[in-house]
Amino acid sequence: MLITLAPDADPQALADHLVRAGVAATFAPQGRAMVVKDLWVPQALRADIESWPGVASVEDLEVRPRRALGLEGQAPPPPQFGRLPVVAGPCAVEGPAMIEEAAAFVASLGGRWLRGGTDKPRTSPHGFQGHGLKAATWLRQAADAHGLSVIAEVTDSDKAEALGELADVIQVGTRNMHNGRLLQRLGRLGRPILLKRGFAATPDEWLWAAEYALEAGAPAVWFCERGLRSPAPLKRFTLDLGAVPFVQAMTPWPVLVDPSHAAGSSPYVAPLARAALAAGADALLIEVHPDPARACSDALQALDFDAFRTLAGELIRLRAALAPEAPAAC
Ligand code: PEP
Ligand code: MN
Repeated sequence: MLITLAPDADPQALADHLVRAGVAATFAPQGRAMVVKDLWVPQALRADIESWPGVASVEDLEVRPRRALGLEGQAPPPPQFGRLPVVAGPCAVEGPAMIEEAAAFVASLGGRWLRGGTDKPRTSPHGFQGHGLKAATWLRQAADAHGLSVIAEVTDSDKAEALGELADVIQVGTRNMHNGRLLQRLGRLGRPILLKRGFAATPDEWLWAAEYALEAGAPAVWFCERGLRSPAPLKRFTLDLGAVPFVQAMTPWPVLVDPSHAAGSSPYVAPLARAALAAGADALLIEVHPDPARACSDALQALDFDAFRTLAGELIRLRAALAPEAPAAC
């Protein structure tokens, strides 16, 4: 970012302000301009710079996403996650009865959002691949029966329209975050996109992926941090909670955290879930299964109903403690 200063400006005062905001700036040789090398400057700080006394102009030195950063297009009102800020449900929709049981359970705790995979992106082609469109129909019916909204993943373009019809929010998984063509196709469906972060994606790549979907027509993107590949994973991935305040500072979109796929093991899901809410996550995505030992995918990380009920109570209390001004029932 190039900040050009008028002759009456006090460059040192602005430089000090930038340092306090955690951003480094260097003076151009004549002292009448400053260069901020960070590509990602929080929107609030950018507004401060633009209105700073003596700042003549602010120009970007690099091309930045427009819609992902909220610089273009209308930001919709934030999604209502309800009293229990969790999108919950099984990894995969394994049959009509199990998803009905899961939906009834989520609704009984005050949840508003049901998740469930229909085409599962598995590491091994020999693993359970999901029941496809049939499962999406079961998911929709179960959600409707209990007044829930649905988040479902679309893994390939062929099923985009059909699956998109059945989901309120379309999930793009970690493995597809880099698939710009799929993001465009899904964006054209006009539904919000829950965009998992690629497990090795930089923040830039994640924000640009959002731009693909928004540019193509998605009315909203919900970012979802779900853990990164690292030299020191807990069981599966390393949860990058720093991504929560970062993306929130850069964009107007909600940021969710999925502790289940990061943890990879059920005892670690609750601590990561609590930490994610404390870090400011707008909501969480958590896998819960009526009978985890028999789950067809991600059995080790699925919470059973008792564990989820306990966690839900903790999360409701934690959210109330963190944001006491939020009305309990919204
Ligand atoms: C999922 O949510 O079930 C899933 C496969 O997630 P991810 O893409 O983060 O691995
Ligand atoms: Mn899963």
